[in-house]
Amino acid sequence: MRSKTDNGNGRPRTEKQGVFDVAVVGGGVVGCAVARKFVLEGAKVILLEKGSDILSGASKANSAILHTGFDAPPNSLELQCVQAGYKEYLEIFKDFNLPLLKTSAFVVAWNDQQLAHLSEIKSQAHQNNVMDVDVIDREILLKMEPHLSNAALGAVTVPGEFVIDPWSSPLAYLTQAVLNGAEVRFEYDVSSGQFDGDGWLLKSDTQADVSARFVINCAGLYGDYLDQALLGQSEFLIKPRKGQFIVYDKAASSLLTSIILPVPSERTKGIVLTRTIFGNLLVGPTAEEQDERGIASVSHCELEKLKTAGEAIVPSLKDIPVIATYAGLRPACESKDYRVFEYQEKNWITAGAIRSTGLTSSLGLASYIFKQYSKMAKPLISLATIKTPKMPNLSEYEPRDWTQPGYGEIVCHCEMVTKREIDNAISSVLPARDLSGLKRRTRATMGRCQSFYCAARLAELTKNKFVNGPIVEIKGDANE
Ligand SMILES: Cc1cc2nc3c(=O)[nH]c(=O)nc-3n(C[C@H](O)[C@H](O)[C@H](O)COP(=O)(O)OP(=O)(O)OC[C@H]3O[C@@H](n4cnc5c(N)ncnc54)[C@H](O)[C@@H]3O)c2cc1C
Repeated sequence: MRSKTDNGNGRPRTEKQGVFDVAVVGGGVVGCAVARKFVLEGAKVILLEKGSDILSGASKANSAILHTGFDAPPNSLELQCVQAGYKEYLEIFKDFNLPLLKTSAFVVAWNDQQLAHLSEIKSQAHQNNVMDVDVIDREILLKMEPHLSNAALGAVTVPGEFVIDPWSSPLAYLTQAVLNGAEVRFEYDVSSGQFDGDGWLLKSDTQADVSARFVINCAGLYGDYLDQALLGQSEFLIKPRKGQFIVYDKAASSLLTSIILPVPSERTKGIVLTRTIFGNLLVGPTAEEQDERGIASVSHCELEKLKTAGEAIVPSLKDIPVIATYAGLRPACESKDYRVFEYQEKNWITAGAIRSTGLTSSLGLASYIFKQYSKMAKPLISLATIKTPKMPNLSEYEPRDWTQPGYGEIVCHCEMVTKREIDNAISSVLPARDLSGLKRRTRATMGRCQSFYCAARLAELTKNKFVNGPIVEIKGDANE
């Protein structure tokens, strides 16, 4: 028999009906990971996202590298969270059917000054406890990466740097949160709120108010604005830093096995060449300061520079077409480290300026934030049984859906997306609500024809099937 405070899943019921223990503002990778962590620890959670889907901000477009932290600032919160996030991803990815491409990385020196710097990079990596990092000479490097330009002078090897799926992982985190009881509201732009000493009443201009005892600000590029609007102050200022990318057709992926990193500068990790989990080869990102927070446009001039830089590093890229371009905005700020603040008197934690490593660090950051929360809030009882979703595999390096019988038809031939995958994405726990969401959940239209051949069929298959209207409440089933 269930006790009054138990919902059958080992979790205490919130005393006041309709009041959440925690409201997570923002459905980027950080918000998704935070929502998951708090749900698993027993909190009644709601995630509020102003976009029409998760990953509407910085998390939409990144390099998808699972970082070891070898080059993170020593003793920083970023290093701590990157390494904890890396470790947890490796512990859980198989349970979620998430992919991992064990590429390793080389930090390559292209001039004598960079060559002299390699031993410092190795020392810093060792200081950061990434002990398998070593310096190798150009002969070994070119033997391992024979398509690399002969101009390479030497490198640092980082065997633990890997590539993951940047969209399925956060989707998996939030899907698990929902399966275990979280609620999600899209198109919920938290514009104001009142704190009564015990909890928050959060308001948007278009939807019903939300009551929550505690707020975790994971608003990414708008984190400082949210703090200003609701707390009346922000201890950091977001300065968006744009990164543009070019994507080479799949033939390019055979030209490299590892991630090729540059010797980093003060401002950026620099231009990277990496295979993607989807079988392409990526060159980018640029690092461009801008004031605009909502738009990440690409520019012909910067893309040309990327192409030239990429082809100088791997000359055979000249023979392979670029099939797509994109840009993302890093939520950078005036400081190099993450800006995580606890406001005990306001029941509020801000996870700000998670700029270049958030995909990796999100799981570690979620644990860190939960630890800080636990110092301020009443103890929770973690879930006794946990539901874990199996995510559809989108990796080119694992069997895709079309290899299994019963898939219906191939809808997108470039990316071999099946009708079954489309149907599942539209009816999943966190369904695709528009074409962008469908692309990220299935890869449809993301191949070399960029939707030319599959757009009409996709339109037929999805007609009247996307969820419309501003209010969508996704309710977890743990209480049912
Ligand atoms: C070019 C580039 C390359 C990168 N490469 C890597 C990499 O290789 N590896 C790695 O680990 N990391 C990488 N990153 C970093 C990673 O993508 C970011 O650290 C991460 O996306 C930040 O996530 P976030 O959840 O903090 O912010 P966001 O993704 O911006 O999420 C914040 C969310 O909050 C919502 N929101 C904002 N205000 C409100 C409001 N008032 N009400 C409701 N919702 C609101 C937004 O719509 C948004 O969806 C890269 C980033 C970029 C841009």
